[in-house]
Amino acid sequence: MESNTARAGSRYPTQAHPFFSCAISRLFYVFLLVSLALMATVFTGTAANTTGQRSDDGPLSGKVILLDPGHQLGNSNPRFSQQMSQKKFNGTTVKGCNTTGTATNSGYPEATFNWKVARQLKRMLEEKGARVELTRNSNSREKWGPCVWDRAKQANRMGADAMISIHADGAPSKGRGFFVLAPGLVKGWTEDVVRPGRKLARAMIEGMTTAGAPPSNYISNQLMISTNTTGLNFSDVPTVTVELGNMRNASDARRMTSVTGQRKYATGLLSGLETYFAKR
Ligand SMILES: [Zn+2]
Repeated sequence: MESNTARAGSRYPTQAHPFFSCAISRLFYVFLLVSLALMATVFTGTAANTTGQRSDDGPLSGKVILLDPGHQLGNSNPRFSQQMSQKKFNGTTVKGCNTTGTATNSGYPEATFNWKVARQLKRMLEEKGARVELTRNSNSREKWGPCVWDRAKQANRMGADAMISIHADGAPSKGRGFFVLAPGLVKGWTEDVVRPGRKLARAMIEGMTTAGAPPSNYISNQLMISTNTTGLNFSDVPTVTVELGNMRNASDARRMTSVTGQRKYATGLLSGLETYFAKR
């Protein structure tokens, strides 16, 4: 960026001034102006770098990302049973609007865990210059949904560069660790997302592992290809569902219900997204 000071300064030597009629004085004056112009350039350069630090030019800068905290607390509220009973064909089977999600043995709801991780991840991504939206704006027993197909449609409308659904599993208690669901091939539905989905899944697995999140001991290579996940099938943008851990496993549950643990999961997802966009 060119500074006004430098531009204005360069005009002075052409102006006639009786005081500088002596050639030596004129030379000194030119030298002084050139030095000032150089200093101004250095200063503006430094200022530009400082303001650029927020979003830097890293892989996430300018990326449009939809984060989908799975479920909603009110999905189990009987008041909303009618809304929750909506059904749609997902390319493979007819499935419901949404579900209540699982919980730890002591009753900490998956919806709340997903919500907390998504909120932290949103802040982290925004600090790196990404534009982030969430599929729900509250975690409340007085709210339901939205339906999983509408969450995917939000990503399509946004033209998102990626959509990440954040979930936790409710598997038998011996199972632990994270795994990723990527869209499998469903003719007429997922041709457009199978390849980028696979790539996104691999990046998320790499990022989560690097961040120190325990990998699943019951899903081989932490990757599950699914042809029957409504949110994945309705998506036209690169998307995966990440099951961050097993809420029924004591060790995972401890991590999932602690602030430090939740931050660690968010860091893992951030690292996965950085890996994905760095490789594109
Ligand atoms: Zn879930």
